[in-house]
Amino acid sequence: MTIRSFEPADAPAVSALICTAMRVSNTRDYPEALMEEAIQHQQPQNVLDRAAWTHFYVAEESGRIIGCGAIGPYWGKTDESSLFSIFVLPECQGQGVGRRIIETLEQDEYFLRARRVEIPASITGLPFYLKMGYAHKRGMEALDDEGIYRLEKFRDNGCLVCQRINQIECGENPYFVRELETGYVVIGDQQRIPGYTVFLCKQHATELHHLEPGFRDRFLHEMALVAEAVYAAFGPDKLNYSLLGAGRGLHMHWHIHPRRAGDTPSPGPVWQLGSELSDPKYTPTPQELARLKARLAAALEAVLQKEKQEN
Ligand SMILES: [Zn+2]
Repeated sequence: MTIRSFEPADAPAVSALICTAMRVSNTRDYPEALMEEAIQHQQPQNVLDRAAWTHFYVAEESGRIIGCGAIGPYWGKTDESSLFSIFVLPECQGQGVGRRIIETLEQDEYFLRARRVEIPASITGLPFYLKMGYAHKRGMEALDDEGIYRLEKFRDNGCLVCQRINQIECGENPYFVRELETGYVVIGDQQRIPGYTVFLCKQHATELHHLEPGFRDRFLHEMALVAEAVYAAFGPDKLNYSLLGAGRGLHMHWHIHPRRAGDTPSPGPVWQLGSELSDPKYTPTPQELARLKARLAAALEAVLQKEKQEN
Protein backbone atom coordinates (compact mmCIF):
# COMPACT_ATOMS: atom_id res chain seq x y z
CA MET A 1 0.00 0.00 0.00
CA THR A 2 1.22 3.49 -0.80
CA ILE A 3 -0.11 6.83 0.33
CA ARG A 4 0.13 9.69 -2.09
CA SER A 5 -1.36 13.11 -2.71
CA PHE A 6 -4.80 13.24 -4.27
CA GLU A 7 -4.96 14.23 -7.94
CA PRO A 8 -8.06 15.72 -9.59
CA ALA A 9 -8.46 12.58 -11.72
CA ASP A 10 -8.99 10.60 -8.45
CA ALA A 11 -12.21 12.47 -7.66
CA PRO A 12 -14.69 9.88 -9.04
CA ALA A 13 -12.87 6.96 -7.36
CA VAL A 14 -12.59 8.80 -4.04
CA SER A 15 -16.26 9.79 -4.17
CA ALA A 16 -17.23 6.18 -4.87
CA LEU A 17 -15.05 4.94 -2.00
CA ILE A 18 -16.60 7.41 0.47
CA CYS A 19 -20.14 6.52 -0.63
CA THR A 20 -19.43 2.79 -0.28
CA ALA A 21 -17.90 3.24 3.17
CA MET A 22 -20.86 5.33 4.30
CA ARG A 23 -23.42 2.86 2.97
CA VAL A 24 -21.69 -0.25 4.31
CA SER A 25 -19.94 0.87 7.51
CA ASN A 26 -21.74 3.97 8.76
CA THR A 27 -25.25 2.56 8.34
CA ARG A 28 -24.41 0.32 11.33
CA ASP A 29 -24.68 3.47 13.45
CA TYR A 30 -26.84 5.88 11.46
CA PRO A 31 -30.22 5.61 9.73
CA GLU A 32 -29.91 4.76 6.06
CA ALA A 33 -31.90 7.84 5.00
CA LEU A 34 -29.45 10.12 6.83
CA MET A 35 -26.47 8.45 5.12
CA GLU A 36 -28.11 8.77 1.70
CA GLU A 37 -28.54 12.46 2.38
CA ALA A 38 -24.91 12.80 3.49
CA ILE A 39 -23.79 10.98 0.35
CA GLN A 40 -25.23 13.83 -1.71
CA HIS A 41 -22.36 15.93 -0.33
CA GLN A 42 -19.69 13.40 -1.25
CA GLN A 43 -19.93 13.64 -5.02
CA PRO A 44 -16.78 14.03 -7.19
CA GLN A 45 -17.23 17.82 -7.31
CA ASN A 46 -17.49 17.96 -3.49
CA VAL A 47 -14.27 15.98 -3.23
CA LEU A 48 -12.53 18.38 -5.65
CA ASP A 49 -13.81 21.39 -3.71
CA ARG A 50 -12.50 19.97 -0.44
CA ALA A 51 -9.14 19.07 -1.99
CA ALA A 52 -8.77 22.70 -3.10
CA TRP A 53 -8.38 24.01 0.46
CA THR A 54 -7.00 20.94 2.24
CA HIS A 55 -4.07 18.60 1.77
CA PHE A 56 -5.86 15.51 0.54
CA TYR A 57 -4.26 12.06 0.45
CA VAL A 58 -5.27 8.68 -0.95
CA ALA A 59 -4.15 5.16 0.00
CA GLU A 60 -3.62 3.02 -3.06
CA GLU A 61 -3.09 -0.69 -3.51
CA SER A 62 -2.48 -2.31 -6.87
CA GLY A 63 -3.74 0.81 -8.62
CA ARG A 64 -6.98 0.88 -6.60
CA ILE A 65 -7.84 3.63 -4.13
CA ILE A 66 -8.73 1.94 -0.82
CA GLY A 67 -8.64 4.88 1.57
CA CYS A 68 -8.50 8.65 1.84
CA GLY A 69 -8.07 11.46 4.31
CA ALA A 70 -7.45 15.20 4.39
CA ILE A 71 -6.22 17.92 6.69
CA GLY A 72 -6.87 21.65 6.49
CA PRO A 73 -7.21 24.80 8.56
CA TYR A 74 -9.90 24.77 11.25
CA TRP A 75 -12.26 27.57 10.21
CA GLY A 76 -9.43 29.42 8.48
CA LYS A 77 -7.20 29.45 11.55
CA THR A 78 -3.45 29.24 11.25
CA ASP A 79 -2.83 27.58 14.61
CA GLU A 80 -5.61 25.02 14.55
CA SER A 81 -6.33 22.37 11.96
CA SER A 82 -8.95 19.76 11.30
CA LEU A 83 -8.93 16.29 9.75
CA PHE A 84 -11.59 15.52 7.17
CA SER A 85 -12.87 12.76 4.93
CA ILE A 86 -11.11 9.81 6.52
CA PHE A 87 -12.55 6.66 4.96
CA VAL A 88 -11.32 3.15 4.26
CA LEU A 89 -12.99 0.73 1.89
CA PRO A 90 -15.02 -1.71 4.05
CA GLU A 91 -13.19 -4.84 2.87
CA CYS A 92 -9.82 -3.20 3.65
CA GLN A 93 -10.67 -2.09 7.18
CA GLY A 94 -8.76 -3.56 10.10
CA GLN A 95 -5.51 -3.80 8.11
CA GLY A 96 -3.86 -0.63 9.34
CA VAL A 97 -4.90 1.53 6.38
CA GLY A 98 -6.61 4.09 8.60
CA ARG A 99 -3.62 4.24 10.89
CA ARG A 100 -1.29 4.87 7.95
CA ILE A 101 -3.57 7.65 6.73
CA ILE A 102 -3.62 9.33 10.16
CA GLU A 103 0.16 8.98 10.43
CA THR A 104 0.52 10.66 7.05
CA LEU A 105 -1.83 13.49 8.01
CA GLU A 106 0.12 13.95 11.24
CA GLN A 107 3.28 14.59 9.19
CA ASP A 108 1.57 17.20 7.05
CA GLU A 109 2.46 20.87 7.53
CA TYR A 110 -1.14 21.67 8.52
CA PHE A 111 -0.70 19.27 11.44
CA LEU A 112 2.81 20.37 12.37
CA ARG A 113 1.94 24.05 12.49
CA ALA A 114 -1.14 23.52 14.67
CA ARG A 115 -1.40 23.58 18.45
CA ARG A 116 -4.70 21.78 18.27
CA VAL A 117 -6.19 19.44 15.72
CA GLU A 118 -9.87 18.58 15.60
CA ILE A 119 -11.70 15.64 14.04
CA PRO A 120 -15.43 15.54 13.43
CA ALA A 121 -15.84 11.81 14.12
CA SER A 122 -18.70 9.48 13.30
CA ILE A 123 -19.96 7.03 15.91
CA THR A 124 -18.38 4.37 13.71
CA GLY A 125 -14.96 6.04 13.73
CA LEU A 126 -14.90 6.99 17.43
CA PRO A 127 -13.02 3.96 18.87
CA PHE A 128 -10.37 4.23 16.17
CA TYR A 129 -9.72 7.94 16.79
CA LEU A 130 -9.59 7.46 20.55
CA LYS A 131 -6.94 4.80 19.92
CA MET A 132 -5.04 7.30 17.76
CA GLY A 133 -4.78 9.68 20.71
CA TYR A 134 -7.71 12.01 20.04
CA ALA A 135 -10.04 12.89 22.91
CA HIS A 136 -13.47 14.43 23.28
CA LYS A 137 -13.38 18.18 22.80
CA ARG A 138 -13.82 20.01 26.07
CA GLY A 139 -17.39 20.13 27.18
CA MET A 140 -18.60 18.20 24.16
CA GLU A 141 -18.69 14.56 25.16
CA ALA A 142 -22.03 13.97 23.50
CA LEU A 143 -22.94 13.79 19.84
CA ASP A 144 -23.63 17.17 18.28
CA ASP A 145 -26.75 18.12 16.31
CA GLU A 146 -25.34 16.41 13.24
CA GLY A 147 -24.71 13.14 15.07
CA ILE A 148 -20.97 13.76 15.13
CA TYR A 149 -18.44 13.60 17.99
CA ARG A 150 -16.03 16.52 18.19
CA LEU A 151 -12.60 15.13 19.03
CA GLU A 152 -9.31 16.94 19.37
CA LYS A 153 -5.62 16.48 20.00
CA PHE A 154 -3.36 19.08 21.54
CA ARG A 155 0.13 18.82 20.18
CA ASP A 156 2.50 18.73 23.10
CA ASN A 157 5.62 20.13 21.50
CA GLY A 158 7.12 21.11 24.85
CA CYS A 159 6.58 24.79 24.06
CA LEU A 160 5.56 26.94 27.04
CA VAL A 161 3.88 29.51 24.82
CA CYS A 162 1.79 26.87 23.04
CA GLN A 163 0.80 25.56 26.49
CA ARG A 164 -0.43 29.01 27.49
CA ILE A 165 -2.41 29.35 24.27
CA ASN A 166 -3.95 25.92 24.82
CA GLN A 167 -5.02 27.08 28.29
CA ILE A 168 -6.66 30.12 26.68
CA GLU A 169 -8.43 27.77 24.27
CA CYS A 170 -9.75 25.74 27.20
CA GLY A 171 -10.88 28.87 29.06
CA GLU A 172 -8.28 28.20 31.77
CA ASN A 173 -5.88 31.11 31.37
CA PRO A 174 -6.86 33.82 33.87
CA TYR A 175 -4.44 36.30 32.24
CA PHE A 176 -6.14 36.21 28.85
CA VAL A 177 -7.49 39.53 27.61
CA ARG A 178 -8.34 39.24 23.92
CA GLU A 179 -7.73 37.25 20.77
CA LEU A 180 -6.57 39.16 17.70
CA GLU A 181 -6.09 37.87 14.16
CA THR A 182 -2.45 36.84 14.63
CA GLY A 183 -2.09 36.49 18.38
CA TYR A 184 -3.41 36.54 21.92
CA VAL A 185 -3.13 39.43 24.36
CA VAL A 186 -2.42 38.50 27.99
CA ILE A 187 -1.46 40.35 31.15
CA GLY A 188 2.07 39.45 32.29
CA ASP A 189 2.33 36.83 35.05
CA GLN A 190 4.10 39.20 37.45
CA GLN A 191 3.54 42.92 37.58
CA ARG A 192 6.87 44.20 38.90
CA ILE A 193 6.40 46.70 36.05
CA PRO A 194 2.70 47.58 36.41
CA GLY A 195 0.75 47.05 33.21
CA TYR A 196 3.25 44.59 31.75
CA THR A 197 1.49 42.91 28.83
CA VAL A 198 2.42 40.04 26.49
CA PHE A 199 1.29 39.43 22.91
CA LEU A 200 1.60 35.73 21.93
CA CYS A 201 1.98 34.85 18.25
CA LYS A 202 -0.67 32.39 17.04
CA GLN A 203 1.89 30.48 15.06
CA HIS A 204 4.51 28.36 16.75
CA ALA A 205 7.31 30.19 14.96
CA THR A 206 10.58 31.43 16.40
CA GLU A 207 11.59 34.12 13.92
CA LEU A 208 9.72 36.88 12.12
CA HIS A 209 11.19 35.85 8.77
CA HIS A 210 9.74 32.34 9.24
CA LEU A 211 6.24 33.78 8.99
CA GLU A 212 4.44 34.11 5.70
CA PRO A 213 4.82 37.83 4.72
CA GLY A 214 1.12 38.74 4.99
CA PHE A 215 0.82 37.14 8.43
CA ARG A 216 4.11 38.69 9.57
CA ASP A 217 3.03 42.19 8.58
CA ARG A 218 -0.29 41.76 10.35
CA PHE A 219 1.46 40.35 13.44
CA LEU A 220 3.77 43.38 13.62
CA HIS A 221 0.88 45.73 13.01
CA GLU A 222 -1.22 44.10 15.73
CA MET A 223 1.73 44.28 18.13
CA ALA A 224 1.72 48.05 17.56
CA LEU A 225 -2.03 48.16 18.27
CA VAL A 226 -1.57 46.21 21.50
CA ALA A 227 1.25 48.57 22.50
CA GLU A 228 -0.96 51.58 21.80
CA ALA A 229 -3.65 50.08 24.02
CA VAL A 230 -1.12 49.42 26.81
CA TYR A 231 -0.04 53.05 26.53
CA ALA A 232 -3.62 54.30 26.72
CA ALA A 233 -4.53 51.95 29.57
CA PHE A 234 -1.52 52.46 31.85
CA GLY A 235 -0.16 55.91 30.90
CA PRO A 236 3.60 55.23 31.03
CA ASP A 237 6.40 57.68 30.30
CA LYS A 238 7.58 55.36 27.50
CA LEU A 239 6.89 51.85 26.23
CA ASN A 240 9.55 49.15 25.89
CA TYR A 241 9.07 46.42 23.29
CA SER A 242 11.02 43.16 23.40
CA LEU A 243 10.87 40.00 21.30
CA LEU A 244 13.24 37.61 23.05
CA GLY A 245 12.91 33.86 23.55
CA ALA A 246 14.98 31.12 25.12
CA GLY A 247 14.67 27.47 26.11
CA ARG A 248 11.06 26.32 25.94
CA GLY A 249 9.84 29.83 25.17
CA LEU A 250 11.27 30.33 21.67
CA HIS A 251 7.78 30.73 20.21
CA MET A 252 7.52 34.46 19.45
CA HIS A 253 5.86 36.60 22.11
CA TRP A 254 6.19 40.34 22.55
CA HIS A 255 6.87 41.75 26.00
CA ILE A 256 5.39 45.22 26.29
CA HIS A 257 6.51 47.12 29.37
CA PRO A 258 5.01 50.47 30.33
CA ARG A 259 8.07 52.23 31.78
CA ARG A 260 8.12 54.99 34.34
CA ALA A 261 11.01 57.07 35.65
CA GLY A 262 12.80 55.31 38.48
CA ASP A 263 11.14 51.90 37.97
CA THR A 264 14.56 50.21 37.80
CA PRO A 265 17.63 50.83 40.00
CA SER A 266 19.51 52.28 37.04
CA PRO A 267 18.25 53.49 33.67
CA GLY A 268 18.09 50.76 31.01
CA PRO A 269 16.08 47.68 30.05
CA VAL A 270 13.83 46.02 32.65
CA TRP A 271 15.82 42.83 32.22
CA GLN A 272 18.46 44.20 34.61
CA LEU A 273 15.97 43.22 37.35
CA GLY A 274 16.62 39.52 36.61
CA SER A 275 14.65 37.12 38.79
CA GLU A 276 12.92 40.02 40.52
CA LEU A 277 10.73 40.30 37.40
CA SER A 278 9.23 36.87 38.10
CA ASP A 279 9.14 37.15 41.90
CA PRO A 280 5.79 35.68 43.01
CA LYS A 281 5.25 38.67 45.28
CA TYR A 282 4.42 40.63 42.12
CA THR A 283 1.72 38.14 41.05
CA PRO A 284 -1.47 40.19 40.89
CA THR A 285 -4.32 39.26 43.20
CA PRO A 286 -7.51 38.20 41.41
CA GLN A 287 -8.93 41.69 42.04
CA GLU A 288 -5.83 43.42 40.66
CA LEU A 289 -5.79 41.10 37.67
CA ALA A 290 -9.45 41.81 36.94
CA ARG A 291 -8.76 45.54 37.06
CA LEU A 292 -5.71 45.29 34.76
CA LYS A 293 -7.62 43.13 32.29
CA ALA A 294 -10.63 45.43 32.23
CA ARG A 295 -8.51 48.52 31.62
CA LEU A 296 -6.49 46.89 28.86
CA ALA A 297 -9.55 45.32 27.23
CA ALA A 298 -11.34 48.68 27.13
CA ALA A 299 -8.28 50.45 25.67
CA LEU A 300 -7.80 47.68 23.12
CA GLU A 301 -11.42 47.90 22.05
CA ALA A 302 -11.03 51.65 21.51
CA VAL A 303 -7.82 51.18 19.48
CA LEU A 304 -9.42 48.48 17.32
CA GLN A 305 -12.52 50.60 16.74
CA LYS A 306 -10.35 53.54 15.72
CA GLU A 307 -8.45 51.32 13.29
CA LYS A 308 -11.70 50.06 11.79
CA GLN A 309 -12.93 53.60 11.20
CA GLU A 310 -9.66 54.63 9.58
CA ASN A 311 -9.84 51.79 7.05
ZN1 LIG B 1 4.76 27.19 20.56
